[in-house]
Amino acid sequence: MPLPAGGGARPKRSLGQNFLVDPNLQRKIAGAVGGEAGDPVLEIGPGRGALTDHLVRRGVKLWAVELDDRLAASLTAEHAGNPRVTIVHGDVLRLELAALTGDWAVTRVVGNIPYNIATPILFRLLSPPCPAEIVLTVQAEVAARMLAGPGSRTYGALSVGVGLHARAAALFKVPRKAFRPVPKVDSAVVRLTPHAPPRLSPAAAGQVRRLVRAAFSWRRKQMKTILARHPEMRPVGGSTEAALDALNARGLSPATRPEELAPEDWVALAEALRPPGV
Ligand code: SAM
Repeated sequence: MPLPAGGGARPKRSLGQNFLVDPNLQRKIAGAVGGEAGDPVLEIGPGRGALTDHLVRRGVKLWAVELDDRLAASLTAEHAGNPRVTIVHGDVLRLELAALTGDWAVTRVVGNIPYNIATPILFRLLSPPCPAEIVLTVQAEVAARMLAGPGSRTYGALSVGVGLHARAAALFKVPRKAFRPVPKVDSAVVRLTPHAPPRLSPAAAGQVRRLVRAAFSWRRKQMKTILARHPEMRPVGGSTEAALDALNARGLSPATRPEELAPEDWVALAEALRPPGV
């Protein structure tokens, strides 16, 4: 029997290596990615090729980014004769992803991504310019936070970040037993369809993100208290009054808490706090 890609080396926990071994789920996740033969697809963390093989068979033009030396070498050897497959040995958090595939706006991204870097990967993929589609397998708890709406216990900075940039849909669950080694938690597959064109400029998106992250570190406090007491909420020139007026204009009282503000409310707040002329 041939050895799995990577020569059967022990999975590295530091790289979040839990390999998907359930053939039905491998097919189902790869099948959740749209696109036809010749369309560009970027796979994050191909590992031993659980999704890669399905994508290759479909004839998409594939870039697969793998950080592990042995796995990257093994995948490179396996796909050496296929001009449609490029194995990129590197760190998905450091590479210039938008430059990789030639046409980022039509590229689809898929990955069973390492649990420990799921949030930074998400924020990278959702910083404009965004790809056409993102299908990610993440911890079920992270999926719940991505999909949460205002007022729910799981709603937070991640939910706002996703809501600002994309339409999000829960696809299906992936039980922990589908992986080897078996992780401690179940996973879920989520599809994000980034807004095209993006609703915010990169600069505006950065401002909203800073504001939201700061506010959610005091999620139980009222907005009036957060705005008055924490200067990091008020960039140069921004005043508490202007911010409270902006909330009022959207029907929100000064006693509102961060978890009650929808993504568009955060955009309005950031606009009110932006110094004139910026
Ligand atoms: N896609 C495979 C599967 O479904 O069986 C592997 C999934 S495993 C959860 C995550 C993969 O991401 C591993 O192969 C790991 O080596 C790789 N990885 C971890 N950190 C990475 C990074 N920063 N950049 C690229 N790949 C990474």
